[in-house]
Amino acid sequence: MFKYGSPIPNSSSCSSVGSELKNCHCGQPGKIFMSWSLRNPGRRFLTCYKLEGCKFFERYDNDFTGRTKDVVVHLNNMRIVLEEKLSLVEERLAMEVEKKLAVEARNKKLGRTVKFFSYVMVVLVGVLMMTHSHK
Ligand SMILES: [Zn+2]
Repeated sequence: MFKYGSPIPNSSSCSSVGSELKNCHCGQPGKIFMSWSLRNPGRRFLTCYKLEGCKFFERYDNDFTGRTKDVVVHLNNMRIVLEEKLSLVEERLAMEVEKKLAVEARNKKLGRTVKFFSYVMVVLVGVLMMTHSHK
């Protein structure tokens, strides 16, 4: 997904922004793209309105300054750390689920084997009793 950036839909509710958007090389209003890279967290760019259109790419607004920038950088770093932790947890969870399924499959097989041998025992005991009674 958009690990290091996200497209921002040009919603009609902010038409004042939409009308200001510069055209890309295709002659259409560009699309605002927000970067979440380490270097440019929260910085907005204008790109082509199409996914695979012209290579139009331009800075949309100025950088954050002072404390705002510190906060944005800090939050972005936290996000990256948390995303990495989350993917580790997800990986471990998937491994645990796999292990559990394997154990369940083994238990099922074992259960079938035990059932089969109990059946064999019952038949054997029955045969033994019959041969005894015939004496
Ligand atoms: Zn374009």
